[in-house]
Amino acid sequence: MSDDLSYVQPTINSPWGTYLSQVDRVVPYLGNLARWVETLKRPKRALIVDVPIEMDDGTIAHFEGYRVQHNMSRGPGKGGVRFHPDVTLEEVMALSAWMTVKTAAVNLPYGGAKGGIRVDPKKLSQQELEKVTRRYTSEIGIIIGPQQDIPAPDVNTNAQIMAWMMDTYSMNVGGTATGVVTGKPLHLGGSLGRVKATGRGVFVTGREAARRLKMDLRGARVAVQGFGNVGSVAAELFAEAGAKIVAVQDHTGTIVNANGLDLKTLLPLARAEGVVGFKGGDVVANDSFWDVACDILIPAALEGQLTAERARKTQAKLVLEGANGPTVPAADDILAERGVLVVPDVICNAGGVTVSYFEWVQDFSSFFWDEDEINQRLDRIMMNALNQIWDTADRHRITLRTATFAVACERILMARQERGLYP
Ligand code: NAD
Repeated sequence: MSDDLSYVQPTINSPWGTYLSQVDRVVPYLGNLARWVETLKRPKRALIVDVPIEMDDGTIAHFEGYRVQHNMSRGPGKGGVRFHPDVTLEEVMALSAWMTVKTAAVNLPYGGAKGGIRVDPKKLSQQELEKVTRRYTSEIGIIIGPQQDIPAPDVNTNAQIMAWMMDTYSMNVGGTATGVVTGKPLHLGGSLGRVKATGRGVFVTGREAARRLKMDLRGARVAVQGFGNVGSVAAELFAEAGAKIVAVQDHTGTIVNANGLDLKTLLPLARAEGVVGFKGGDVVANDSFWDVACDILIPAALEGQLTAERARKTQAKLVLEGANGPTVPAADDILAERGVLVVPDVICNAGGVTVSYFEWVQDFSSFFWDEDEINQRLDRIMMNALNQIWDTADRHRITLRTATFAVACERILMARQERGLYP
């Protein structure tokens, strides 16, 4: 028993509150390891940094940045960096904790970490974006490193930002440390298959879930919220498998077409300016997205989107969590009661960190694999993990989310117990 954290007051649907309630649900399945569970309820280390830069107009701007290392019992920290004006320490804590669970769920030799800067990158010039990235990297440089903690892309960050992070860290340590970040450009030690890996993992786990539900993907209607790296790639792969993408929502709005949206024209437009300018569908109110006629719902934007009210409305039979933490606990219960199957984030979107792991291994060995090999290994790791989780869910008659937490938390707490407490 110990006190609650003083620096965060989680509310019921906040990301950290959601995470804590997910941990509470797994305790009955942890046996004797439950005595270590408190270790999952607090981050190992959290760093808040000031990121001052000189803007193009000569003014000085300050941004707040974070790097949280939630747990490193099984290996170095691993997790993305998010640039978003609404990022908070509490959100980054939750995202880092979900990384701990995710890396353990797919059995990668990592712990969990996450980072973020409170900034709207769309309002920065390319030069300002580079300055923010480099100063932030230098500030968190005291706790990251190829063997300590390895950042990667997340919302609003990409391969170019990873290249600047790698270069900044390398300049500070006096070498070229390619293994300090993943999701880098290919010619800087990046891996084939990384850009599409998360969306691909969403598709692979979704295809297996559909098979078990006896749902034919040909003609299946799919609604996708968030049309960035994760959502757009998942949509493409489902369309290739014969599904119809009937609704897409991004930060600019929502478009629907019951006959299926044409992704070849939608994708480049969405990348350039967002989905609402698209002529091949109807623009509808954002709230109508949640009761659109569909079989599969893919939330792939931000946390807390699938609320209790939206869970009551959805017509989907299968929810694939591309985003981290999109479903609040009350919505989880409603979906379970309504017989809607949820493939949880901590396994569904684990494809990205899995190929990040391949990238890190390739950087260390300086030997690079071809894309077929990467995709085959990715599919195998995701399917093995999912099958084990499914067996656990069937054995205990629990949801896939609690089963994923059960499999993952057992691995994490076993490592904690075997290592023992220092000193
Ligand atoms: P991204 O920046 O590429 O795309 C985010 C998308 O969400 C954009 O289309 C944006 O318009 C949309 N969006 C933002 N705010 C929205 C709102 N209020 N309503 C509707 N749409 C909104 O980000 P991404 O990398 O695709 O990440 C999406 C989610 O997937 C996040 O939760 C992230 O943590 C998670 N994730 C990403 C990866 C990865 O490899 N990139 C891996 C695992 C999980």
